Amino acid sequence: MFADLLPGLPFLIALYPEIHYRFRFFPFSRYYRQAPEIIADAPRRLEPGESLPLLFLIKCAHRFPLQLKAIEIIARAHDRVVRREISIHEVVQQPFWHRIERLELPDEAPAIWEVEVFWQVEIGGRGYRLRTDNLPGLSHGPLRVKQSGQALPRAEGWQLGDLHTHTIYTEDQVEFGAPLEAYPALGVAQGFSFAFAADHSYDLDDLPGSWMKCDPNLTRFHRRAKQIEYLNDQNRGRFTLLPGFELSVGNAKRRNVHLLLIGQRDFIPGSGDSAERWSRNQPEMSVSEVLRRCEDETLTVAAHPMVDPPLLEKLLLRRGSWEDDLAMGIPPNPPLIKGKNMELFGLQVWNGGQTRDFRAGIERWVGGLLKGKRWKIIAGSDAHGNFNRYRQVGFAMLKLTEKGDHVFGQAWTGVEAVKDSSEQEIISALRKNRSFISDGPCADLEIMERPGGWQVQVRAQSGSEFGGLARIVVYQGIPGEDQERLLIQDEKQGIFNWETIIPLETAEGYLRMEATTSYGNLCLTNPIFFNDRER
Ligand SMILES: [Zn+2]
Ligand SMILES: [Zn+2]
Repeated sequence: MFADLLPGLPFLIALYPEIHYRFRFFPFSRYYRQAPEIIADAPRRLEPGESLPLLFLIKCAHRFPLQLKAIEIIARAHDRVVRREISIHEVVQQPFWHRIERLELPDEAPAIWEVEVFWQVEIGGRGYRLRTDNLPGLSHGPLRVKQSGQALPRAEGWQLGDLHTHTIYTEDQVEFGAPLEAYPALGVAQGFSFAFAADHSYDLDDLPGSWMKCDPNLTRFHRRAKQIEYLNDQNRGRFTLLPGFELSVGNAKRRNVHLLLIGQRDFIPGSGDSAERWSRNQPEMSVSEVLRRCEDETLTVAAHPMVDPPLLEKLLLRRGSWEDDLAMGIPPNPPLIKGKNMELFGLQVWNGGQTRDFRAGIERWVGGLLKGKRWKIIAGSDAHGNFNRYRQVGFAMLKLTEKGDHVFGQAWTGVEAVKDSSEQEIISALRKNRSFISDGPCADLEIMERPGGWQVQVRAQSGSEFGGLARIVVYQGIPGEDQERLLIQDEKQGIFNWETIIPLETAEGYLRMEATTSYGNLCLTNPIFFNDRER
C-alpha cells in the first residue's frame, strides 16, 4: 500500500498546512475546516499554592477571521465547582492569537480537577459554542489537572526542567508549538524552573509566514532569541528558557539525525529532513563538523538517540538513528583540536514516556561509560506545544513527528545548586554539577573520603503522587570492565524518604543510582566519578 502512495506523497506532505490543506487525491478532506484552529490547554499538575494557568490559542484566523465573544471555564473536583467567564468581544484575524488566564482553585488535594472550557465564537455570521477545542475527530473532553498537594520531589537547591520542548517557532506543514510565554506560566505552575526551546534548525531559518523559503537574514531565529531574552528578564529567578535549537545533522551513514545544541547562540544550518526540498534530503554537515563549529559552552546532546524512525521518514526524509555512531564513539576518531571539546556532551535518552528506545538508550549510555565516555543523560518531552494531553492533527501515515505521547513535563532533568538561574548558570550546572532524569522521584549520591576509607551517601525521595519508593539500585562502573558492579539492590515498601551511607571497597570509576516507585516512576542519576577531571 505504501508503494502505491509513495510517488504522490512528497507533494502532499510538502503542502499540508495543519488542518487547512485539502487533499486532492485522497478522501482526507474531512479534516478540512472553514475555521481557524481553536485550542484550550492547561498543565497536567499543579504545585501547592499555584493558581491554574490556562492557555487559549487561535491559529490561522487571518484566513478565517472570527469574533471571539467570551470564554467560559468550569472546573470541578470532588463536590467543588469553580466558574469563571471571561468576556472578550474581539475580532480575531491575525495568524496567531493567544491569551493566558488564571483560575484560582481551592485546595482539594488530593484531587483531579476536570476543567471544561467553552468558547463562544461567531464565524461567518453564525454563532458556535465550542468545547475545549475544534480539532476534528478529537474528544473535546475536559482538561485534567492533578492537585496532589505536594511539590515535585527534589532536594533543597535543586531545580527541574524539560530539556526538549518545541515552541511556536516550530511551525510547519503538520504541527505548531505553543507561544514562548506559555512555558514560564505553565512551567512554574507544574514545578519546573527551566525548559530548553528545541525548535528545529529547519524551521528557524524559514522566511516569516513561510514553511518552505529560507531567509538569509534569519529573521525568525533572531526574533526568537530576543523574545527569549525578554521573557527570561521578566521571569528572572522563577523560570528560564534555554536558547539553542534541535539541529538536523548527518550520522555516520549520512542519514539525518537530531542534535540538541543547548545554549548555542549562532545559527548552524541543518535541513536534510525538513521536507522543504524533496530533491535534496542529504545532511549539510556531519556530527564532527558541528562539534567543531559550535560554541564552547554549548551542550551537545544526541536527541532521542535510539528512536528508530518510521519507514516513511527513513525513505522520504532520509532519517536515521544515533545507534551506530554511539556504538563507535562520537566522533569515531576525534580529530585533535587544541582547546576544543570534540566529545559529545550527552544523550537525551528520555524523550516523553518510558519507551523501549529509552531502555535501549540507557544500555548504550552505560556501554559508553564503561568504555571511558563521560556522556551525561538528560530528559525531555519533545512536546510540540501539547501541555495537558497529546493532540496531533493529522494521520499516522503522514505525520512526520517522532513516536510516543509527548506532553510537556512528562520527563524532566533535575540539576543541583543553581543560584541565580541565569541561562549561563543552568547550562554550566548541567555540565558540572550533579543531575538526574526522572518522571517522579528524585535521588542523588555523594562520595566522601573519611579516615577509615571511602563512603557514599545515598538519598532518594518520592511523594504520594508517584507512590512510595519500591526499589533502589546503586551501581559502580569501572571503565574497562564488561559490566557495572551492583553495590546496593534494595526493595523498599512504601517509604517516601530513604537515606544511607555505605562504605566502598574500591575508589575507582564512577557511581550512579536508580530509584523506582511503586507506581513505576523512575529516577536515574548521572554518574559521579572518583577522579573528576575537568571536562
Ligand atoms: Zn527530533
Ligand atoms: Zn524535537
